[in-house]
Amino acid sequence: MLNINQVSKTYSNGVHALKNVNLKIENGLFGLLGPNGAGKSTLMRTIATLQQPDNGSISFDGIDVVNQPNELRKRLGYLPQDFGVYPRISAFDLLDHLAILKGIESKAQRKEAVEGLLAHTNLFAHRKRAVSGFSGGMRQRFGIAQALLGDPDLLIVDEPTAGLDPEERNRFHNLLVSLGHDKVIILSTHIVDDVSELCEDMAVLGAGEILLQGNPIEVTQALEGKIWRKIIHAHELDEIQSDVDVLSTRLFAGRTVVHVVADDQPEGFEAAPASLEDVYFNTLSQTRKTVA
Ligand code: ADP
Repeated sequence: MLNINQVSKTYSNGVHALKNVNLKIENGLFGLLGPNGAGKSTLMRTIATLQQPDNGSISFDGIDVVNQPNELRKRLGYLPQDFGVYPRISAFDLLDHLAILKGIESKAQRKEAVEGLLAHTNLFAHRKRAVSGFSGGMRQRFGIAQALLGDPDLLIVDEPTAGLDPEERNRFHNLLVSLGHDKVIILSTHIVDDVSELCEDMAVLGAGEILLQGNPIEVTQALEGKIWRKIIHAHELDEIQSDVDVLSTRLFAGRTVVHVVADDQPEGFEAAPASLEDVYFNTLSQTRKTVA
């Protein structure tokens, strides 16, 4: 289990990126959801021992992450947001090189590990191609292959699906699901569907604070019966906004679909099933109201 306790971070420019973050994360896929700038990468880099918090502690299976970074690194796989690769090196050679850096000394063991990971990430047929020429989705799957070297118990993937097309994203999701339940996997993302499709536990991070933690199904059920929908023309939006608190708007076939959250049905609205997206926007908007 990963235990994050009262973790805070203020950068030297005064940005308060994490504010007393508390999280308990069990084995399985955990979604850390938040808008850009919420502090997700700061938290991921802190757990991955790449930077230190100002306050607080983090423990993973008895390891004090802040004070024993080398112990944690032996158990960690990390796919950073800006995963760069060397040009012109083949997938096999690059993974083999990274396996040496991970301390897998025997050539035979490395070959077995590297080929196994390339097969698992559906890249075996492309093993002789340069990673720098891979598509975005292939590159991210390669990123998972390198993160899995050494069979880590804690895997952190920071915004891995941004920029992937729907088919690549789907493949990437299937890969994450295939990793099983015997490790802590933290998926940081601003894409609600990543979390609703994959995660049994999640948290919403907004402006450096944990605003909500729970099981996506349960937190969504809590809004059931309170979500109302109306399909309007874009020019009607101002008028609607003066009548009701609009939770979200999205376009569908050129029309605007407005969602609101309310105990009672607002006039002209119809009942709609609650979704994790409604939960997400509702959580963020409540915080904005408190701040305002
Ligand atoms: P996210 O990953 O959710 O987009 P980040 O952790 O990257 O959020 O950023 C959180 C806040 O901290 C942002 O306001 C960002 O501009 C700021 N920030 C991130 N890294 C640094 C840094 N190295 N120095 C100063 N400010 C930073």
